[in-house]
Amino acid sequence: LDLKQEDIESMQELGAGNGGTVHKVLHKPTGTIMAKKVIHVEARNSVRRQIVREIQIMHQCISPYIVSFYGAYLNEGDISICMEYMNVGSLDNIYKKIGPIPEDVIGKVTHAVLAGLVYLYRNHRIIHRDVKPSNILLDSQGNIKIADFGVSTQLINSVANTFVGTSAYMSPERIQGGRYSVQSDVWSLGITLMELALGKFPFQSEGEPLSVFELLEYIVNEPVPALPAGQYSSELEAFLARCLIKDPASRPTPSDLLSNPYCQAAADKEVDVKEWAKVLL
Ligand code: ATP
Ligand code: MG
Repeated sequence: LDLKQEDIESMQELGAGNGGTVHKVLHKPTGTIMAKKVIHVEARNSVRRQIVREIQIMHQCISPYIVSFYGAYLNEGDISICMEYMNVGSLDNIYKKIGPIPEDVIGKVTHAVLAGLVYLYRNHRIIHRDVKPSNILLDSQGNIKIADFGVSTQLINSVANTFVGTSAYMSPERIQGGRYSVQSDVWSLGITLMELALGKFPFQSEGEPLSVFELLEYIVNEPVPALPAGQYSSELEAFLARCLIKDPASRPTPSDLLSNPYCQAAADKEVDVKEWAKVLL
């Protein structure tokens, strides 16, 4: 599929993040609905072309737990990335609409994200680097998939130079500038799952909002957050405690957690995510 700007018609804005803006679009020659992310990269054109080349590996990232990729192209100073449109949207928007996500659905999210992370690392040596609710998407078939993983080193570097490059989901070792490995994604998953269970970001205090600096310092120096006692299953509590081990050497990898009893039970359990997602359409 050779994607060109003139073949694409914008339908609706889906949202914007630090890195770019996402639109629901129609690819006219094929009649395919897609999600198109436009990223402005302040760099030389040779660098932009390299990013587009690096992004092409996404064509090989094929899994039921990964948002599929249609193609990427340059348009003036912008890089456009066209991917599968997930019609129920991202988990941040979902919980902001309906409140805390039920534990059964959280179990399915846990399994899907871990299966996606294990697929990326085993087959392509890709570390996600940006696991958070807005990068976990749902469709009306009940599929749960991850998006926005770090495929292009050049893009990661270019974005880190222009934007903040910090996120509230970063592991303590990453905040401290340490080595980054698959265990960092597990920390981000832990914070993400806790946020879905609570219906709010776990580090949010009651009073004054924390500044970015205060938040990062808090994550590094204060005890890890936990769910309020007595409101959630002990299995979920125990699983989150494993994800949120501060020392990355002691923290499990995605592959360790995929075979963890909590994740296995969640994978085997019959949960009608499709039915649950109906209210969200
Ligand atoms: P950041 O830029 O820090 O990664 P973000 O993930 O919120 O933050 P974007 O990746 O630009 O920002 O996405 C913006 C919004 O677009 C998301 O919150 C999501 O709701 C929506 N979105 C992104 N990709 C898709 C997709 N493939 N299908 C449907 N909606 C999408
Ligand atoms: Mg995103």
